[in-house]
Amino acid sequence: MSGQSEAEWMQPPLADEVSVTPLDGAVSGSDRVHRNPRKKLIRRRLKDRSQWFRHSVQAAFVMLNAGLGIQFCLWTRYYETAGKTLYVNRPAGVEGWLPIAGMMNTKYLVETRSIPQIHPAAMFLFLAFLASSLLLKKAFCSWLCPIGTLSELLWKTGEKFFGRNFQLPKWIDVPLRGLKYLLLSFFAFVIGSMSAAALADFLHSPYGMVADVKMLNFFRDIGQTGIIVFVVLLSLSLFIRNFWCRYLCPYGALMGLASLLSPVKIRRDAAACIDCGKCARACPANLRVDQLVQIRSVECAACMECIAVCPAEHALQFSLPSRRGTEVKDRWRNVVLTPMAVTIVLACVFFGFVGFAKATGHWNTSLPRSLYLELVPNANHLSHPGM
Ligand code: SF4
Ligand code: SF4
Repeated sequence: MSGQSEAEWMQPPLADEVSVTPLDGAVSGSDRVHRNPRKKLIRRRLKDRSQWFRHSVQAAFVMLNAGLGIQFCLWTRYYETAGKTLYVNRPAGVEGWLPIAGMMNTKYLVETRSIPQIHPAAMFLFLAFLASSLLLKKAFCSWLCPIGTLSELLWKTGEKFFGRNFQLPKWIDVPLRGLKYLLLSFFAFVIGSMSAAALADFLHSPYGMVADVKMLNFFRDIGQTGIIVFVVLLSLSLFIRNFWCRYLCPYGALMGLASLLSPVKIRRDAAACIDCGKCARACPANLRVDQLVQIRSVECAACMECIAVCPAEHALQFSLPSRRGTEVKDRWRNVVLTPMAVTIVLACVFFGFVGFAKATGHWNTSLPRSLYLELVPNANHLSHPGM
């Protein structure tokens, strides 16, 4: 599922070693650049700000989710104590953590052309993230998703403490990468085989109505097995870059498939590139950025780490297809997305969907307090409809 066509592969470069002065922030790690001696290095003029923008967006999303989590815990506590604690409004944004409800509601919307009443925010957030993948590769994973942020923090911590990360051999890496598609296929099959009436029945069942509380309870009442699984996943994430995202996350798998349609991709200009290989070494998805002219792979999360380390002007960009032109700078004129542009597009997509849902009165799940007073304290006893 790498999505790389054979035609994209270039000849392996000849390399020698020269010393260059790194541009401020443009080149990370060693300032010694191995390069093709037949190519001239034209150094980047401007400081790279991609990682500053990306980490700022990641931090904002982590804080947003932490705020939503705290508010949701207070809301749940209010009903669990029969109204004896502080009342806060239910934060509909927590439904971003209900991707299955989001997919169910999307199918319901497509079939009935009406917006579902239970967990509609899950659907709007799902559509917003899907739209971001259609426009900007899998930017959702490396710019917005808090799990992606945690994964990145873990492998970078592992790299710092142990001096390196590990790459699984291809014979195990490729089948393991297929696991997330198996999980995605399972959910797609189950949801795909449900009629609109069955979807509505599920979401209007007591279980469906407090699916968010059940999710919270899963983490609050986590047992020994759950803790062991978490510790194993966290440990593996220290050694293997983005272990969860690369092998197990069905949501990332779906975003990756949608990203195949993205017109914006990482693109390399072979004439400007000096074949130093820094981009490939920096790529958390282990993609051969230095040997491809564009990255179509479903694993590319638009993190721009490859661009951040590239020393050569116009060699690597997150862009629309290049223009015709003999001069390198002409080929990339007005087609490159700067990190600020990526941030703005993501913000427009996210706030566009959320704003539309709020403005049209379709953001919140409106259920009476009396129903929540009955369901929330008993959420653990509610079983899946049909079981
Ligand atoms: S480093 Fe570049 S090629 Fe690799 S995942 Fe990030 S954006 Fe994609
Ligand atoms: S695109 Fe990659 S190989 Fe080429 S100059 Fe940039 S970092 Fe080096």
